[in-house]
Amino acid sequence: MSELKELVEEAESDIKEVAQEIAQENAKKPWYKRISLTTWIFIALGLGVVVGLLLQGAPEIAETYIKPVGTIFLNLIKMIVVPLVIFSMMAGVISLRDIKQIGAIGGKTIVYYLLTTACAITIGLIIANVLNVGGGYNLPAEELAYEPAEQPTLIDTLVAIFPSNFVQPMADATMLQIIVIALFFGFGIIAAGQKAKPVADLVNAMSEVCIKVMHGIICFAPFGVFGLIAPVIASNGPDILLPLLRLIVVAYVAMILHVVVVYSGLVKVIAGMNPLTFFKGELPAFTFAFASASSVGALPINIECSQNMGVKKEISSFVLPLGATINMDGTSIYQGVCAIFIAQVFGIDLTIGQQVTIVLTAVLASIGTAGVPGSGMIMLAMVLQSVGLPVEGIALVAGVDRILDMMRTAVNVTGDGSAAVCVNAMEERKAQKRAQKVA
Ligand code: ASP
Repeated sequence: MSELKELVEEAESDIKEVAQEIAQENAKKPWYKRISLTTWIFIALGLGVVVGLLLQGAPEIAETYIKPVGTIFLNLIKMIVVPLVIFSMMAGVISLRDIKQIGAIGGKTIVYYLLTTACAITIGLIIANVLNVGGGYNLPAEELAYEPAEQPTLIDTLVAIFPSNFVQPMADATMLQIIVIALFFGFGIIAAGQKAKPVADLVNAMSEVCIKVMHGIICFAPFGVFGLIAPVIASNGPDILLPLLRLIVVAYVAMILHVVVVYSGLVKVIAGMNPLTFFKGELPAFTFAFASASSVGALPINIECSQNMGVKKEISSFVLPLGATINMDGTSIYQGVCAIFIAQVFGIDLTIGQQVTIVLTAVLASIGTAGVPGSGMIMLAMVLQSVGLPVEGIALVAGVDRILDMMRTAVNVTGDGSAAVCVNAMEERKAQKRAQKVA
């Protein structure tokens, strides 16, 4: 007993020593390094909003002088995202070594994504109906012109997942095709065994290099967030926002509800994680997604956030790129809320059957939505067409699309983060059970 006490005391004094060392290290840092990156990103967001509001009379100033900062940052992120995904995913496949285990992770991830998206769109429809989203809106007939982009068929979409060329998907940053390439080559390296050892070493080393480059780029995220948000706020004045305020509020309420109820519940129940710890860990990715309106753009930051929350590299490097491409809970909520809005504005009553059709098509449409700004609005046409709603209705919501896009992207990215945490926890439990059986 006394030995145990001694051990505990020793551990306590060790912890105190380490804490003191960290405090001393921190005290040596310049003041701006003592503030965490998350706090800086948040400060940048607040500053961007304030500067945007101040520049509402002269949005061209924000466009000319501030936006380039955001664009440079986004360019750097786009530069690193393809090598990061390809090398880290290949490294993940190599380290798992087991096709069955990769299949198990993939299966869980896809089921998680589909179920949460179906939940999201259901919440969107309920909130839009309950809060009567289209009420009080006067239809301005002259605005109604919208030419829907041609929608690919389901078969075309499936066929397009498989690349016919090794280089093109990387040049175009076509994420699903890149994932397929990484999986095939990862398996190839495992199959080639000892002969491919140099390639495996190179892939692992390149994955480390990409992570280091990504860290370097992410340090500038506060500038990027500021440069992206200020022009958006400056060019979205009250005359654009006010007529559609109700739609914006309803969509935001539904999205926040989904995040608070569904993600909190899942990380608590599946991963045993305090939801607040999860949201705090996810905050940098959430904020960056909000400012950039691009899931793919926020991917490197999301990978970093989930690894900081203890998600294993081989899980985050698989779950998150897939999520940035196919998991769009925020987008599906937006599509549901907009469908109800357009129906109400045009005086069309949707039956329960039609609303179920919306759930199914919005799940598919959100999978097909690319993780770049504005693509959710293009896919909205598919949802409207599925229940015979006028596609021209999109013209009504197009003016405020960016404001809705910011929040839906932030929700999309948070959904991916929650999947990484949950799948990681499930895999850890499985590994523990396996270890117990062996022992
Ligand atoms: N911008 C969103 C995203 O990148 C997609 C959308 O437009 O809904 O996740």
